[in-house]
Amino acid sequence: MKPRVSVHKFSSCDGCQLAFINAGPALLELAELVDIVHFAEAGPMDPDAPVDIAFVEGSISTQEEAVRIRRVRESARYLISIGACATAGGLQALRNFNAQGVDDWTRAIYARPEFIESLDTASAISDQVKVDLELWGCPVNAQQVFTAIRRLLFGALPFVDNEKVCQACKRRGIVCVLVTRGTPCLGPVTRTGCGALCPAFGRDCYGCFGPAENPNTAPLARRFQGLGLMPEDIARRFHFINSQAPGFLEEGRNWNQGTP
Ligand code: SF4
Ligand code: SF4
Repeated sequence: MKPRVSVHKFSSCDGCQLAFINAGPALLELAELVDIVHFAEAGPMDPDAPVDIAFVEGSISTQEEAVRIRRVRESARYLISIGACATAGGLQALRNFNAQGVDDWTRAIYARPEFIESLDTASAISDQVKVDLELWGCPVNAQQVFTAIRRLLFGALPFVDNEKVCQACKRRGIVCVLVTRGTPCLGPVTRTGCGALCPAFGRDCYGCFGPAENPNTAPLARRFQGLGLMPEDIARRFHFINSQAPGFLEEGRNWNQGTP
């Protein structure tokens, strides 16, 4: 029997599931190796089926999701969270900074807020259940996902590249936007996985793959200050897509109240 795989959606924009679908031939090859038993966006629907690998996209933002993620965990041998929402709460976790809770925001945004059932915070999957592997990115790199599946299928531990975007940038011979143009780039503290996509197009990295191992955020933040960024702008650089990720969360907080 082929290994069984499921893909589950929680609070998210669906971009990471689209990264799967957009993989085209690689997805067809994968379908030869495994049975995809649940992947609502692509067709198969059997959310409670026992599986060898469950991929989870999205953060836990409602009570229903907090219950459902436990069912996913119980039915899966390996659980892999994919993308910024699943690994660090995503953009929707910006509401975690609102001490008043989420109610005043839902009243301001929705015509019928009484239909919105939302938790006051959005959290990463690993805050709720045991996660065997986290694949970061907004969206995730589909190649990383397929590599992880293949390694698991062959009984090898999945390898996740943890080096910094700067290293990918140097290998590709890309001109540094921080050094040559004074653009505040988060590449020195962000994990690679995208192959330095943004600097390759002459723009700064905004940290969508989350913090690299041992991110040295404080000197980079001071460099941003030297480039003319105000403390609140520096805080916003770190409190963006991966605002709740360890390293980015603390550095942003350091600058939220002014120069540390
Ligand atoms: S452009 Fe950004 S990622 Fe590339 S070397 Fe410079 S600081 Fe690092
Ligand atoms: S360069 Fe930075 S922001 Fe751009 S895709 Fe890569 S990790 Fe994301």
